[in-house]
Amino acid sequence: MAVRARQSGIRDPESALRLFRKLLGDGQVHADSATLDLYAADETPRRCVPRGVLFPHDHDQVRDIVAIARATRTSLVPRGAGSGNVGGATPVPNSYVVSFECMNQIRDLDPADRVVVAQPGVVTADLDAAARAYGLFYPPNPGSAAFCRIGGNIATNAAGPRSLKYGVTRDYVLSLKAVDGRGRSLTTGSRATKSVVGYDLTRLLVGSEGTLALVTEAAIRLLPAPAETAVLQASYSSAEDACAAVGRVMRAQTVPCALEFLDERATALVREAGVNLPAAAQATLIVEADGSAEDIAVQLPLYQRALQGHGMLELAQARTPAAVATLWATRSALSGAVKRRAPLKINEDVAVPVSQLGALVSQIEKLAVTHQLEVVSFGHAGNGNLHVNVLIDPAEPGQKKRAALYLRDLFQAVLSLGGTLSGEHGIGLAKRRFVPLEVGEDTLALMWAIKQQLDPMRLLNPGKALPAVVRRRPRITLQ
Ligand SMILES: Cc1cc2nc3c(=O)[nH]c(=O)nc-3n(C[C@H](O)[C@H](O)[C@H](O)COP(=O)(O)OP(=O)(O)OC[C@H]3O[C@@H](n4cnc5c(N)ncnc54)[C@H](O)[C@@H]3O)c2cc1C
Repeated sequence: MAVRARQSGIRDPESALRLFRKLLGDGQVHADSATLDLYAADETPRRCVPRGVLFPHDHDQVRDIVAIARATRTSLVPRGAGSGNVGGATPVPNSYVVSFECMNQIRDLDPADRVVVAQPGVVTADLDAAARAYGLFYPPNPGSAAFCRIGGNIATNAAGPRSLKYGVTRDYVLSLKAVDGRGRSLTTGSRATKSVVGYDLTRLLVGSEGTLALVTEAAIRLLPAPAETAVLQASYSSAEDACAAVGRVMRAQTVPCALEFLDERATALVREAGVNLPAAAQATLIVEADGSAEDIAVQLPLYQRALQGHGMLELAQARTPAAVATLWATRSALSGAVKRRAPLKINEDVAVPVSQLGALVSQIEKLAVTHQLEVVSFGHAGNGNLHVNVLIDPAEPGQKKRAALYLRDLFQAVLSLGGTLSGEHGIGLAKRRFVPLEVGEDTLALMWAIKQQLDPMRLLNPGKALPAVVRRRPRITLQ
């Protein structure tokens, strides 16, 4: 179905609904209140009820949806599983959600090329399971892998504990099919594992949070699955001692698969969940090694030596698959356990160069005291990437205001340590006003110019990722 863009300047969400129904049929267009309510938010508390939810089945339907959106000046909000932590998939007023849940097919998996071609709605864990059937695996493993979708991972450049050794989503996406805001069908990159033709639009689209194009297919690199994994868990009498041990592990002549940090409160939550940790433990490190049995035999003593040092209270080891799984299950349960501690949780994911981890941890704690807030931090120490969870009870007078001040001070501290506002969650709605703290005016103007080139009518996920206010007219134009 071809729809000519009228560009009349009139927003027309009602006629959009008619046209979407004509294009997709009633089964793929939902506008009942129960569905609208279900799709009104992601993991963040902010809600906005959309006009409708669209469930395309293929690339051509996505292209035609964009054509209708252009003709009726209707905003589209792409959505995977809605597990994002920054409001990226939260609708904006009068928008339609484009849910990729029905585009959930693995199109091809070639073990010789070590490439899987998948639609965006494939659940990340299913993609990994399909690869493992061939002795391969998909390395990025966000904590949400059991339910988040590969399209959402691509749009946020998701990462996980294994990113220390294996990198992030961006390192695995070889090529993309997508529809931009002008309704153009784009094919970026190549299935070949080496390609240098033109600009790297694949890397531009990965992490662009659905603001430049809707991803309809991805060719993704896989690796041979490691034969074994082993995990070490070390507890410390202070966060400072744990951070010093992180430095020693990072100086070992081999890269662990994962190196995770839990602060005092996270350690207490894990202990409450039944994990045997010394009562005096104020911080915990988890190190995972993977590879062949011989690789692990070489790595483990190196990590053990590095973990041992001032303030270490106890060192535990998990070698069997069941023991390794139990240990990680506890770490994965932390996110939910923190959420249950307060009516509202703000989950930041700042990152600093790993040498600055100790300074970051001490700033997180100092600011929590200054602003009288409960803060639980844990995360990917080897990448200098911590999830800073600020717990709030909105009923408590002044808490929300103090949390806002805490975040401002935290971001300033992170940037002064050479870090970044987001290691893996992205900016979405939640953090866009802070972007100018990190990105300079000219660079921001270039970002807006790129947005203008791919989505001049600002229909794709408007108001996300880039700050709302451009302080100066962009100097650079691409048209
Ligand atoms: C318990 C829990 C643990 C988590 N752990 C991690 C973690 O370890 N690492 C990590 O990185 N994140 C983590 N997250 C955050 C979240 O799961 C990731 O950001 C994930 O990548 C989002 O995937 P999704 O399918 O839910 O996407 P959504 O939340 O639906 O969308 C995320 C963004 O992608 C855009 N988008 C979705 N599909 C498309 C598409 N096809 N084309 C263009 N844009 C699209 C959306 O508009 C939005 O901006 C966690 C979340 C939870 C709840």
